[in-house]
Amino acid sequence: MNQSRALMGLAGVLALVAPLLTVPVGSASAFVDIQCKFTTSNLKWKDSTTRSSYAVPGANATAAWHATPTAIVLTQVSSGANISVADGNFGPTTFDGVTFKTCQNGYNTTGAVSWWNRQYTDGYASVVRKSLMVHEVGHALGLGDVDANSCVNVPIMQEDTATRWTACLRQIPQPDDINGINFLY
Ligand SMILES: [Zn+2]
Repeated sequence: MNQSRALMGLAGVLALVAPLLTVPVGSASAFVDIQCKFTTSNLKWKDSTTRSSYAVPGANATAAWHATPTAIVLTQVSSGANISVADGNFGPTTFDGVTFKTCQNGYNTTGAVSWWNRQYTDGYASVVRKSLMVHEVGHALGLGDVDANSCVNVPIMQEDTATRWTACLRQIPQPDDINGINFLY
């Protein structure tokens, strides 16, 4: 029951300080610029997971962004990270993933933390955890949720796991996501 509810839920991005403005970039671009990116594309990430069943899809998720034809470089560190990947239980909320970050004048002012909500994701296979974390790291990088209506167009920033993974099997950044990153960086 929890899993089916999770699959209906949304993966979220929350800004702790500044309100998050979602600004469509233009009709030719489906990606969303949330006006909160890093000042550099040379980024450090940290594994803050509590178990290997999350560490593995976390490493796969950051590697997926690192491998894109963009300026993004993600190097693993043990402290001083720009992006931390973590598993925690936020309870029966509406989200299966969430990214916390603070924003000012268009930029992240602190490191971002991208979370799985184990209330739901303990029931996900590793590849589904990866799909969700690639999505959440997209929020950390500055991309917003997208709601595409066809698997032809569904990006990794598709907001719901039911469409992004279950229907459309997205586990790495898609052309629209890469266009978004190349726009931002
Ligand atoms: Zn999202």
